[in-house]
Amino acid sequence: MGPLKKPDLYTDKRDFVRTEIICKHFLDAVTKKTFGWGWKCPNGGDQCTYKHCLPPGFVLDEGEDVNLDDDYDEIPIEELIEEERAKLPPGGTKVTLETFMAWKAKKEAEAEAI
Ligand SMILES: [Zn+2]
Repeated sequence: MGPLKKPDLYTDKRDFVRTEIICKHFLDAVTKKTFGWGWKCPNGGDQCTYKHCLPPGFVLDEGEDVNLDDDYDEIPIEELIEEERAKLPPGGTKVTLETFMAWKAKKEAEAEAI
C-alpha cells in the first residue's frame, strides 16, 4: 500500500449532487483541517445532498487573519461627490471636483469653528 493521495478538495464525485451550495460540514472540516479520506459528513455521510468540494480557485486561508475591511477603507472620490451632492439642496450648482472640494473645505472650517 502506497501513501494515500491527498483528497481532491475541488471535485465532488457523487453524481447526484445537483446543488451549488457547499456543505457547511464539509467547509468546516476543510477549514479545521479535519477533512480527509475517513471524513464522514454529519449530514448523512455520502448521502448528503450538498456539495463536498470547494469552488475552483478557492484558496484556503492558512490561519492568517483576513481582514475583509481592508479594501473598503478608501472610498472613491466620485462616490464621495455623489454622496455629498445628495446632501446639497436640490437645484443647486452642478458639483465638480473643484466645487466639491471648496464646499468640503467650507464644511470642515465650520465644523472646526464649533
Ligand atoms: Zn455534507
